[in-house]
Amino acid sequence: MHATVIGAGPAGLAAAACLVREGIETRILEQAADVGSSWRNHYGRLHLHTARGRSGLPGLAMPARYGRYPSRADMVEYLETYAAHFGLEPRFGVTVETVRPDPDGWIVQHSEGTDNSDAVVFATGLNGMPFRAPLPGLDDFTGTVLHSSDYHAPGRMASQRVLVVGFGNSGGEIALDLAEAGARVTLSVRGPVNILPKEIFGVPITSMGLLRKILPYRVADAITAPVLRAKIGRPEDYGLKSAGKGPAAQVIEDGRIPLIDIGTLSAIRDGAITVRPGIDRIDGGTVHFVNGTAEPVDVILLATGYRVDLRAVLPETPEVLDRGGKPLVSGAETDAPGLYFCSYHASAEGQLRQSGLEAEAIARRVRKSAT
Ligand SMILES: Cc1cc2nc3c(=O)[nH]c(=O)nc-3n(C[C@H](O)[C@H](O)[C@H](O)COP(=O)(O)OP(=O)(O)OC[C@H]3O[C@@H](n4cnc5c(N)ncnc54)[C@H](O)[C@@H]3O)c2cc1C
Repeated sequence: MHATVIGAGPAGLAAAACLVREGIETRILEQAADVGSSWRNHYGRLHLHTARGRSGLPGLAMPARYGRYPSRADMVEYLETYAAHFGLEPRFGVTVETVRPDPDGWIVQHSEGTDNSDAVVFATGLNGMPFRAPLPGLDDFTGTVLHSSDYHAPGRMASQRVLVVGFGNSGGEIALDLAEAGARVTLSVRGPVNILPKEIFGVPITSMGLLRKILPYRVADAITAPVLRAKIGRPEDYGLKSAGKGPAAQVIEDGRIPLIDIGTLSAIRDGAITVRPGIDRIDGGTVHFVNGTAEPVDVILLATGYRVDLRAVLPETPEVLDRGGKPLVSGAETDAPGLYFCSYHASAEGQLRQSGLEAEAIARRVRKSAT
């Protein structure tokens, strides 16, 4: 029995470690030059918003010296240690191009040739393809356009007028980073938002899933709403629109992770960040918003998320993907025996924890299919 794991980020390493533990011969193919490439590229100030105790991967806890919320550098170090601990040696610089079924299993075609495999686990991540919102006039904008995936530190932007488009976790944190560095920051927020404090009564918010396990998620949302309101107020207090549903409902029904506030709300309240609605059009160096206001900016930073589309890599098994190319099933048996996806569905309790749970479930399935 032989398995191929595609990707050496947290999910791929976790899947490979669990497969090896189940006695499955496993190869990892990774297009980058190191493990954890996405973490190496994230912006400098990033710390996990999930607590250390619930962010480790199967079989190796994160060291206590990382503190409650490990930094980006800790995360890179942890992934290197994790790979070494389990003797995982990915083949780096290998990009998987297609995965096709074969009477004996799967044929994995990649930049260095072709491999056969009984099982294939995709772990290429939810954040592989930056999504650049198609804003009217953006192509003719006279300033600089960046995606949040290109952002590392304020640099020259510290003295510029920066428009951050999108108020997800990356947009919120980058806006704060820029404002603290002295940039004039405007945040364009098109739709309604759900905002959570990082902790309630000293307990990390992402560790509070217990309530949802014992109560239907809408009931859990209703019970926690007054506590959230007392802690951070309502989105309207900051010029934002409330989502018509609670944070658990948003994750479960829409697959969208709520914003975990790490200080952006105070910066909005203090006037260090200006909130504006959606963008109507961009005219040269001026951005016009849907409420009729306009302002000149030097940089547009698109924190408009990512897309997953595996249709080109899986040309012969469209039944395992939705219409946009995202896996229908993650962490369990798919309609194509021997083909698995690890960590492709958003989890309210942290994607790292989810990766570990799915990796364990996949490895058990692969072992079972081998007996
Ligand atoms: C800014 C940010 C902060 C986050 N903070 C947290 C947090 O605090 N807690 C938490 O639980 N989660 C967090 N997440 C979410 C999630 O845990 C991370 O995104 C995590 O890195 C996902 O792991 P992954 O292995 O699924 O994907 P990735 O880390 O993206 O790894 C995928 C790997 O696959 C490789 N790859 C892709 N395509 C191919 C191909 N065709 N061939 C070969 N290799 C390929 C890539 O090079 C990459 O190395 C955060 C995400 C972001 C973006």
